[in-house]
Amino acid sequence: MWHGIPRKDIPWFPSVDTDTCIGCTLCYTSCGRGVYEMQNNKAVAVNAMSCMVGCSTCGTVCPVQAIAFPDRDMIWRLEREEKIFKVVRQEAEEKMAKQDALKARAAAEDAVAKLTMRVRFEIAGEFGEKRFLIQLGEMIKEGSYDFVNLRLDIPTVRGVALKTPSFMSFEVTSTEQDDIQAFLPEVRDLIRLNELTLVSEKKL
Ligand code: SF4
Ligand code: SF4
Repeated sequence: MWHGIPRKDIPWFPSVDTDTCIGCTLCYTSCGRGVYEMQNNKAVAVNAMSCMVGCSTCGTVCPVQAIAFPDRDMIWRLEREEKIFKVVRQEAEEKMAKQDALKARAAAEDAVAKLTMRVRFEIAGEFGEKRFLIQLGEMIKEGSYDFVNLRLDIPTVRGVALKTPSFMSFEVTSTEQDDIQAFLPEVRDLIRLNELTLVSEKKL
C-alpha cells in the first residue's frame, strides 16, 4: 500500500532503454529496493513494483540517461483524487509517536547508564579476626546497600598466624537498584582505616 492506495494500482517504476544502457551498474548498486538485476551487462528492472513511489534516484544518477519514469503529474493527480492526506496525517502521527517512544527509551537508557549500580573492589592486607567483615556488616544495617560475591583468599593457614597478607574481593550494590556512588567513599574510608590496600575498584 502507498498511503492507502494499493501499490499495484500506481504505475510508477523505471523503464530502461537497453540500447542506451552501458552496463555501468550504478542504478543496480544505488537502488536499495532490489528493483534491478544485471543481465548480459544491461540493467533490467526485474522487481519494478518494488520501486518506491516518487523516487527517481537511479534515473538521476544514470550517466547516459537510459532510465525513464512516468510523468510526475500522475502522482500529483493520484494524491488529489484519492484524497490520501487523511491517511498521510495518521501515518505521520504514528511515526512521530514511535520516534518519541524511541527517544524516551534512549533517554531512559542513557540515565541508567550514568548510574553506578555495582562496583567491584579488590583489596589486600591483614583482615584480622573477622573485624573487617563485621565492619562491612555494620555499614549496611540501614539503607539498601549490600556487599555481594564476597571472596576471601587466604594463601596459607600458617600465614594467618603470621599475619601474612590475604586477598579479598566483593561487589557493592543496592537491593533497590539505587545509585551507589554516594556510598563508595565510606567503603574506601573503611579500607583505609583498616590499613588495607585497595588493589582495584571497577564499575561493573
Ligand atoms: S527510483 Fe529509486 S526505488 Fe525506484 S528503482 Fe530507482 S533507485 Fe530504486
Ligand atoms: S545506470 Fe544507466 S547505464 Fe548504468 S547500468 Fe543503469 S541503466 Fe545502464
